[in-house]
Amino acid sequence: MSPTCWRPGCPAPLVAQWQRRPTQAELDDQAAAALAARTAALAAAGLDPAAAAAIPAPTPSTSTRAVHACADHAITMDLAQHVHQDTCTAPGSALPSCSCTPEPLPVPPSAPPTTTLPTGWVVPAT
Ligand SMILES: [Zn+2]
Ligand SMILES: [Zn+2]
Repeated sequence: MSPTCWRPGCPAPLVAQWQRRPTQAELDDQAAAALAARTAALAAAGLDPAAAAAIPAPTPSTSTRAVHACADHAITMDLAQHVHQDTCTAPGSALPSCSCTPEPLPVPPSAPPTTTLPTGWVVPAT
């Protein structure tokens, strides 16, 4: 099934996508489907299918769902950079903002210290 705008019945072409955390029901479905796929793959390879259960299920903090939108129903580009809460299934009347408080952006690792050599080359400091 190809993705459609988050607003039910909206046929407009998609122009935006952002991420939100899955609900517990979605997470349970995803974990069950992943376990079934691993069990089938192990059985097909002639290995012990019970080993599939040893792999931990995904948690809400490591899993996201994509939300798609058309131009009329998209949130702002700034908001789309954030991961939204599981309750943010539809931005609703709050467009172009949304109804939840999105998670803060990850902090990028800072650049390592460098040294400029007399020749002008910039190299990592030792
Ligand atoms: Zn739409
Ligand atoms: Zn949101």
